Amino acid sequence: FAHLDLPSVEDYQKRKVALISGITGQDGSYLTELLLEKGYQVHGIIRRSSSFNTGRLHHLYEDQHERPGKFKLHYGDLSDSTNLVYIIAQVKPTESHVKVSFEMAEYTGDVDGLGTLRLLDAIRTCGLEKHIKFYQASTSELYGKVVETPQSETTPFYPRSPYGCAKLYAYWIVVNYREAYGMYACNGILFNHESPRRGRTFVTRKISRAAAEISLGKQSCLYLGNLDARRDWGHARDYVEGMWKMLQQPKPEDFVLATGETHPVREFVNKAFNAVGLELRWEGSGEDEQAIDVKTGKTVVKVDPRYFRPAEVDLLWGNPAKAERMLGWKRRVDFDSLVKEMVEADLKAAASLVED
Ligand code: GDP
Repeated sequence: FAHLDLPSVEDYQKRKVALISGITGQDGSYLTELLLEKGYQVHGIIRRSSSFNTGRLHHLYEDQHERPGKFKLHYGDLSDSTNLVYIIAQVKPTESHVKVSFEMAEYTGDVDGLGTLRLLDAIRTCGLEKHIKFYQASTSELYGKVVETPQSETTPFYPRSPYGCAKLYAYWIVVNYREAYGMYACNGILFNHESPRRGRTFVTRKISRAAAEISLGKQSCLYLGNLDARRDWGHARDYVEGMWKMLQQPKPEDFVLATGETHPVREFVNKAFNAVGLELRWEGSGEDEQAIDVKTGKTVVKVDPRYFRPAEVDLLWGNPAKAERMLGWKRRVDFDSLVKEMVEADLKAAASLVED
């Protein structure tokens, strides 16, 4: 195996090679951009599936002509250990980042929970546990039914979804391997982070698209669930920088990345519609609440109870003090600018008929 002819940890680390699982997602694409800019060779793991979405990576593929050999995708799956060992032995990364999410509860447990264990074990199998720095994309979903506000690295966890439960396992297995084997492994507990590349099922992107489409007369009404839910929303581009910073510390530790502000879904709606020049008036309450376009008198937002969740996370509000102090990290994009950027991107896309 690889450890037979390994260079010293110092020489190995000089290579700057990153391996990213979940590279086709919002964070994967921003992280790839950041690491390429920093001179890394970037490798991604993608599933061998007929429907995977590499749209967010197209522009990076094109850049390949200018930076040959700097960006490569590998077929793989976090549910397949043998395959992970093969990829790690081949790529020999210096840094590794995990981010995945799936709808199905059992599969989520397998991939988000056990998948993290498989990657950590694959690193050990290759004898690289002292060579590779490992980042686990942990999440504010761990706080779920929050027991303290705002939430920091010392707030107890209370997950409220199969995804949150799987991520709880991933969090602790990272801590465990760090303590048991002296691995450089970190959990980045990231609060919601959005962008024009956010998947369309997340509430922010659903709202920004709808505001754009409604203003262009392409959609008449937006249906949402719990308008009172509050989130701490930042910009994904700022957050991938925080991920990278976590792996550049002398000692591995876990960090919260957040804006330190919380806003209700209703406020996101108001600001998104304002960004396309519409003023909303809210009427009614609970399931009957609706928003009316002041100018036309038409109802443009309604509540659909189908979007209510079986176990809701009502409030997420992060305290980024530790990251600010130790990493010198701070979010750059504020709430209003985030909403505006997302709506403007969707307006442009809707106007030119380009999807995603
Ligand atoms: P999450 O924090 O990872 O669950 O991110 P989401 O963007 O999916 O949801 C954020 C909050 O918005 C949750 O509390 C949802 O209940 C609330 N929400 C309200 N209406 C909707 C909706 O139509 N879709 C989604 N996805 N969330 C909604």
